[in-house]
Amino acid sequence: MDDKVLVTKALLPEYEEYCEIIKPLWESHWLTNMGKLHIQLEQELKAYLGVNDISLFNNGHMALELTLQALGLQGEVITTPFTFVSTAHAIARNGLSPVFCDIEEDTFTINTNQIESLITDKTCALVPVHVYGNICNVEKIQKIADKYRLKVIYDAAHAFGVKYKGSSIGNFGEASMFSFHATKVFNTIEGGAVTFHNEQLREKLYQLKNFGIKSEVAIQAIGSNAKMNEFQAAMGLCNLKILDAAIQKRKAIMERYCKNLQTCPGLKLPQDQAYTEKNYAYMPIIISREEYGHTRDYLYDKLKEKNIYARKYFYPLISSLDCYRDIQRLPAEGLPVAEKISEGVLTLPIEPNMTLDLVDKICDIILSI
Ligand SMILES: *Cc1c(COP(=O)(O)O)cnc(C)c1O
Repeated sequence: MDDKVLVTKALLPEYEEYCEIIKPLWESHWLTNMGKLHIQLEQELKAYLGVNDISLFNNGHMALELTLQALGLQGEVITTPFTFVSTAHAIARNGLSPVFCDIEEDTFTINTNQIESLITDKTCALVPVHVYGNICNVEKIQKIADKYRLKVIYDAAHAFGVKYKGSSIGNFGEASMFSFHATKVFNTIEGGAVTFHNEQLREKLYQLKNFGIKSEVAIQAIGSNAKMNEFQAAMGLCNLKILDAAIQKRKAIMERYCKNLQTCPGLKLPQDQAYTEKNYAYMPIIISREEYGHTRDYLYDKLKEKNIYARKYFYPLISSLDCYRDIQRLPAEGLPVAEKISEGVLTLPIEPNMTLDLVDKICDIILSI
């Protein structure tokens, strides 16, 4: 490959279209603080996702961190170590202790059979992750949450546009966080959102992303600054128009990968989930050293030699990081599945505008080793 092929490439609208939508900002001089485009994007996303309510943020991480703050949580939060560090950081930065649950073999989402064994009288919430856009067992998670009176906040950073039984994945739990980072399926350059149905959360989130300000003279909380600005919102409005087409192109790319690689021994490919509409966000493969004949790292290096930059998402596990050693709690039986998947996973390049020819070339390298 002559040019570097990265794991993904940001979705961009036509240049002229973006210019058109930001033009009025040169007249209004209103660049941030819940401006016109911010309000318009909020409305359009609410309609697109079919959710009760949504609040926009400058990035997904702050959306999650401030949602946990808004809920006034204290104690331990059960999540998984097989995710982007942001998930655990949002928990820890609220003074909460992460408890790492193992994951399921097929979806890499939280193992719902293990959650109950990790609950103590300190447990206040669950933060399951719809990793790669694979959905968690939302029904079982809600049952457990109801039984122990726990809040469920989903990290849905990967799951924009994913539906379960015809409903947006953002409709489950107390709240769900979506990331609109440049590398995600839908982007606002940097950005994020929280979807929720509890009316009281709206006001709290609004204040927390704007320094806790209620009015010019009333500061109600120790908030942060996490507002989405007008240039970000403009990118979102443009990208939303081309999103469905982009997801369809992703679908064709993922299907091509799966068709090409399905006969290769030792590779586990993404699978469909019942009643679920996917967004084709990532193309993870799990490499079994014994059957494939080589390690994940060997394949990673070989692809790199050919200018293909796959990524080891998610390796290392968060539970193995030094900064979590003293604040985390782990299951007595350890995290064998998360460890195995993390050692074997490689996410292959996928972005809407890559050609099927490029997919074939990448697959040829994988098959020829
Ligand atoms: C991207 C991501 C985040 C953080 O989102 P940002 O918009 O980058 O702040 C959180 N969790 C997961 C799983 C992510 O992939």
